[in-house]
Amino acid sequence: MRQDPYIVCEDVFKIYKIADLEVVALRGLDLTVELGEVVAIVGASGSGKTTLLNILAGYDAPSAGKLTVGGEDLLTMGAKDVEAYRRHSVGFVWQQTSRNLFPYLTALENVALPMMLTQISASVRKQRSQELLDLVGLGHRSDHTPDKLSGGEQQRVAIGVALANQPPLLLADEPTGELDDQTAGEILDLFGAVNREMKTTVLIVTHD
Ligand code: ADP
Ligand code: MG
Repeated sequence: MRQDPYIVCEDVFKIYKIADLEVVALRGLDLTVELGEVVAIVGASGSGKTTLLNILAGYDAPSAGKLTVGGEDLLTMGAKDVEAYRRHSVGFVWQQTSRNLFPYLTALENVALPMMLTQISASVRKQRSQELLDLVGLGHRSDHTPDKLSGGEQQRVAIGVALANQPPLLLADEPTGELDDQTAGEILDLFGAVNREMKTTVLIVTHD
């Protein structure tokens, strides 16, 4: 039996209304992503990439079209289900390294934080957070706050945070936008490693 794609967007529209001005951010978008795939979306600035990720993350609702993620319908989902979806079904990495992490928490505490919204015990939280930091290659810096880490290292921690509750889908909005080319390449490789290790479906948007 053939499985449906994990993400199905059909003729998706997003229209922002500001006073009596309408901005069409997505105009009939079609996109399918299979479970376990790594997909990069490339597009010019202003083409609607962030809008798409915000919708897939459950932060914003599409205006029209069809959109399902893991069989869940993001157009008709109620507020309670959206909250659960955001918490368990997606992890998100922002472009701005500083937006991903709490500055006064260590790398380990940052990764452990999303787990506090679940039933996991403190000792398991700590152990899992350490394992995630090992996975992203920062196990040896777990006690350091973000200001002690480089931009690339901060994005590694951010990927650990996004994976904290083992979401099936990882979304990243220009995660390498503030990094030099070599570090950017390493971070993109890390998304591939995460995909292989955790079977996470990964959607990355980038402008180049
Ligand atoms: P990208 O991430 O590809 O640069 P965006 O998704 O941020 O593109 O924006 C797509 C279009 O939607 C742009 O024209 C932008 O100005 C507009 N837009 C984005 N967010 C809003 C908003 N909250 N209100 C009004 N217009 C918006
Ligand atoms: Mg953007």
